[in-house]
Amino acid sequence: MSRVYNFSAGPAALPEEVLQKIKNDIPDWNESGMSVMEVSHRSKDFVELAARAEADVRELLGISDQYHVLFLQGGATLQFAMTALNLSAPGDTVDYVITGSWGKKAAKEAGRFCQVNVAADAADRNYTYIPDESQWQKSVNAAYLHYTPNETIGGVEYHFVPDTGDIPLVADMSSNILSRPVDVSRFGVIYAGAQKNVGPAGITLLIVRNDLIDRCRPDTPTLLTYKAFAESGSMVNTPPTFAWYVTGLIFDYLLDKGGLTAMAEVNKRKADKLYAAIDGSDFYSNSVSKDCRSMMNVPFILADADRDAKFLSEANEAGLKNLKGHRSIGGMRASIYNATSEKAVDALIGFMQDFERLNG
Ligand SMILES: *Cc1c(COP(=O)(O)O)cnc(C)c1O
Repeated sequence: MSRVYNFSAGPAALPEEVLQKIKNDIPDWNESGMSVMEVSHRSKDFVELAARAEADVRELLGISDQYHVLFLQGGATLQFAMTALNLSAPGDTVDYVITGSWGKKAAKEAGRFCQVNVAADAADRNYTYIPDESQWQKSVNAAYLHYTPNETIGGVEYHFVPDTGDIPLVADMSSNILSRPVDVSRFGVIYAGAQKNVGPAGITLLIVRNDLIDRCRPDTPTLLTYKAFAESGSMVNTPPTFAWYVTGLIFDYLLDKGGLTAMAEVNKRKADKLYAAIDGSDFYSNSVSKDCRSMMNVPFILADADRDAKFLSEANEAGLKNLKGHRSIGGMRASIYNATSEKAVDALIGFMQDFERLNG
C-alpha cells in the first residue's frame, strides 16, 4: 500500500492503523456477518459501540459527569446557530471574540438570533494575533462568550483559556480538540466537527455542562436542541453510524498511543520544527505572532508568490499533498493534526529546504 503525506485541513488524514482496521471490519463487523453500516443503531452491538466511544472520549479528555457528551450532525457550522438557540433567549446579548474567519462566521450566524457584542476582533492586524484579554469589551450580562481556540485558516491558536467567570464559555474546537489535554471544567460548551482531528466528516462532538441543556428556546426544532440528544444517548433519530464507528476507533487509537499528553508531545515537536524551518529562512515566512501560532495548522508564504504554483506542483509530485493555502489567504498551509506523522513533517521540511536551494 502506498500512502502519501497528507497535510489536508479537513477532511484530514486518518491513522493508517485505523484504516486497516476498518478494512478488516467491513465485511463482518463484530462477528455479526454484516458491516457496521448495515446494523440497526438500536441493536445491542451498536449501542455498546456508542457507549464505549463516549467512555473513551471521557477518559481522553477527563470529562466529568457534570457534562454530557453528544454526537450530532450538521458539522461545526450548525453549532454556530445551535449555540445561540440553546443558550440564549431572543434579545439576549452574547459575546464573541473573533480571531479569524471561523469566529467571524460564528458571530454572524448568532446575530440572526440575538444581540452579538464583538468583545474583541483581530481584523485590524489581519487575524495574526489575539487581542490582549484584559482589553476585551465583555458584556456584564452575556448569555455566553464564544471563541475559536484554533483558527484553522489563519493558523492562530490560544495557548490559554479565557476567564469568563460565571458566564458560560463556548469553544469551537473543531481543529484542535484531542491535540493536547484541556481542562474541560473551564467550559460551558465545547464542540468540534470531526473531520479535522476526530474522525470522518458527518459527525460532530459536543460536550455540554449539565445545567446548560435546559435553556433552549421553546420553538427550537427538536433536532437542534442539546436536550433531545442528551436524553436519548444521541439517538433522537438515525445517527451517522459509520462515522460514529470510525470516531470510536480513533478514540481507541489515541488511548493506545498514550492519550493526549503523548499526542501533545509529538504535536509540539512537529510544530516547533516546522516553524523553526520557516523562521530560519528568508525564503519562507509566517506572520502570526509567536505567542499564538497554531500547533495544528501552519500557514506560510514564499517571499516570491510567483513560485507558489511550482512549489505546490513539485510538492505534490514528491507525495506531499494538500499544501495549498485556503482560497481566502493563498500561500501554503500544512495541517499537521494527530494523524499526520512526524515523518511527514520531516519530509516536508526536507522538501522545503531542497526547493529553497534550487529556487532561492
Ligand atoms: C472546519 C471548521 C469549521 C466548519 O466545520 P464544518 O464541519 O464544515 O461545518 C468551523 N470551525 C472551525 C474552527 C473549523 O476548523
